[in-house]
Amino acid sequence: MKLEPKPLKYTELPGISTRQLTEHHDKLYVGYVNKYNEITEKLAAVDLSATNQTYSDLRELQLEKGFALNGVKLHEAYFDNLTDKPTEIIDPIKSALIKQWGSVDKWVAEFSALGMAARGWVVLDYDYALGRFDNYIFDAHNQGGIANTQLILVMDVYEHAYFLDYATARKDYIAAFMTAIDWTVVNQRVSADDKKLT
Ligand code: FE
Repeated sequence: MKLEPKPLKYTELPGISTRQLTEHHDKLYVGYVNKYNEITEKLAAVDLSATNQTYSDLRELQLEKGFALNGVKLHEAYFDNLTDKPTEIIDPIKSALIKQWGSVDKWVAEFSALGMAARGWVVLDYDYALGRFDNYIFDAHNQGGIANTQLILVMDVYEHAYFLDYATARKDYIAAFMTAIDWTVVNQRVSADDKKLT
């Protein structure tokens, strides 16, 4: 199945410029969509009998397929959980964060600090096996993800996400991200099934 890039819902965000967003979305994100399509086309024609764990076309293409697809999914979740019309944090995510962290502020402090610890992504996810929300970091698109979880909130902390606006001041970018979260979208992810609210 060929993937199509999804458009941005806004042209700028509080604290993030149009130029920064356009470079990030139109070049980097669209690049992952195109590479995924290129890789899956090549995989359809690969010689399955020549497979090998040290090197084989099947192995290399399959690894990069996972990298490219996570690049697509994480970027789509990231762009979609931001808004140019900031929203207040409301239930059900508000109660869920309080239940897990004790207060929304404690979750914000942890999520923001993880933004300084990660090399790629910070993710708030819901773990279906453990039955709870938790924060995780990714050092690459295909390094750090937890199996059997759903993305609830995604923050890109690769330099390409903020360098045009903030240079090395990642902390300021993280503060801007936290004020531009679309809590309506976050709540739609929380409410996508009943399991998370029990
Ligand atoms: Fe990115």
